[in-house]
Amino acid sequence: MLPPCGKIALTSIISSAFGETERERMAVGAEAAVRELRATYATGKTKSFEWRFSQLKAIQKIVSLHNEEIVEALRSDLQKPEFEAVIHEISAVSASCKLALKELHRWMKPQKVKTSLISFPSSAKIVPEPFGVVLVISAWNFPFLLSLDPVVGAIAAGNAVVLKPSESSPATSSLLAKLVGKYMDASAVKVVEGAVAETTALLEQKWDKILYTGGGKVGRIVLSAAAKHLTPVILELGGKCPVVVDSTVNLKVAARRIIGGKWCANSGQTCIAPDYIITTQDFVPQLVNSLSAQLDKFFGKEPLRSKELSSIVNIHHFNRLLKLLDDNDISKKIVRGGERDQSSLKIAPTIVSGISTDSLLMDEEIFGPILPIITVDKIEECVGVINAKEKPLAAYLFTNDKKLEDKFVGNISSGAMIINDTVLHFFEAGLPFGGVGGSGMGAYHGKFSFDAFSHKKALLKRGFVLDISARYPPYTPGKRRFLRAVIQGNLLDIIRSLSTCW
Ligand code: NAD
Repeated sequence: MLPPCGKIALTSIISSAFGETERERMAVGAEAAVRELRATYATGKTKSFEWRFSQLKAIQKIVSLHNEEIVEALRSDLQKPEFEAVIHEISAVSASCKLALKELHRWMKPQKVKTSLISFPSSAKIVPEPFGVVLVISAWNFPFLLSLDPVVGAIAAGNAVVLKPSESSPATSSLLAKLVGKYMDASAVKVVEGAVAETTALLEQKWDKILYTGGGKVGRIVLSAAAKHLTPVILELGGKCPVVVDSTVNLKVAARRIIGGKWCANSGQTCIAPDYIITTQDFVPQLVNSLSAQLDKFFGKEPLRSKELSSIVNIHHFNRLLKLLDDNDISKKIVRGGERDQSSLKIAPTIVSGISTDSLLMDEEIFGPILPIITVDKIEECVGVINAKEKPLAAYLFTNDKKLEDKFVGNISSGAMIINDTVLHFFEAGLPFGGVGGSGMGAYHGKFSFDAFSHKKALLKRGFVLDISARYPPYTPGKRRFLRAVIQGNLLDIIRSLSTCW
């Protein structure tokens, strides 16, 4: 029996299982967690409106009563400024909860749909039902938001949930375990802390849905583990999000909005942060000047000392970014920034201009405070540059040219698009949030979160009148004519074939 608390250390569950390997112990622990959740789910408890409502209220309580602890954990993990912690993480979870609480009744209601002549007389509904027991695996860059935001959707939809936060943000992970354990129903919502081994043990279990947030490499591991059980998966991955800047724009506003998305959210460690800029060669000096002027205003002349700049999450990622910056071809093209401080794991906002599409910087998602600029002869060529890469999670265009905008929207496939801003779509609950192709599959946020964790069951109801014999053997040409006309909805043919179908 598992202890009745939301937090489980898988290794300690079966600590008495002497002689078993660590891996086996974790597997048994994961199995026990899923078994308990399945037993709870089988009682039907999580399906009730009251349970869902109470658990959403519990998340609201976590958010409202533990604001300072959450801010502190995020500071400890990422040096995240309080402002960013409150706006990007705490308020965003709170808003999702508030919306789910307000709309829950409506979302849960079966949706009536029209029926056709085929089943006349009948009525039909789409009944949203929970998948069952679901797994949420989250990433370290917004460790509070990316953990609880999907859980809001999973609970609103009536599922039992295991949440596995990222080991790279340990303070937030352990705070989540503590708070979920304290406020939520431990028989149906659990936090499992740990790293690769724990996640692997969890992935070996049969889940009814998995939502994974993180890089594509592990995304593939998640997808193949899920395939074994035919478990549906939402993959919230990353990629290289381009920003195209046309020379027709209000440059000051554009620069501020690019900086807002790149450096004012986790120092570029954001899945939807601008990854690289595309512009025309002649526009580069003005663009760099404008970005630099605004960066000075936001972070001062010594950005490494700025309290408004998050640190890089760990030494591994710090060194990864320095390897890019110190590459021979790249370092000489730095036009702004490049400073770093290993003791605080901070790297100054850095702009690299004039790099080619085959540069090291264009290989993989940068996921840090470096912003390269690529130039094209004509701005319309941006479409080819972007389409030569994996489909991005977000693509941004700054322009006043409607023709360019139409070309951009019509010819580039991406998870999301913003014209004349960056990252704001994340906060629009009416828009689905998710990737396409290499940037992921499936989406959530707002009602989409409820849908992501609900199976849409088709329900058709009939009475016992009008049981037409045309559908039963012996099959005759007349019956076939009649049924064909019914399926095609061809009224004239139905009337014509009526006399020959009996
Ligand atoms: P991470 O290192 O925190 O890993 C994510 C999760 O995968 C963690 O819970 C971790 O325990 C687990 N994991 C790691 N290695 C594993 C393995 N071998 N087997 C099983 N599980 C494993 O996060 P990350 O991958 O460094 O995150 C950064 C990436 O995530 C970036 O590409 C970023 O763009 C993307 N991201 C996407 C979104 C989105 O909403 N689309 C949000 C944030 C981050």
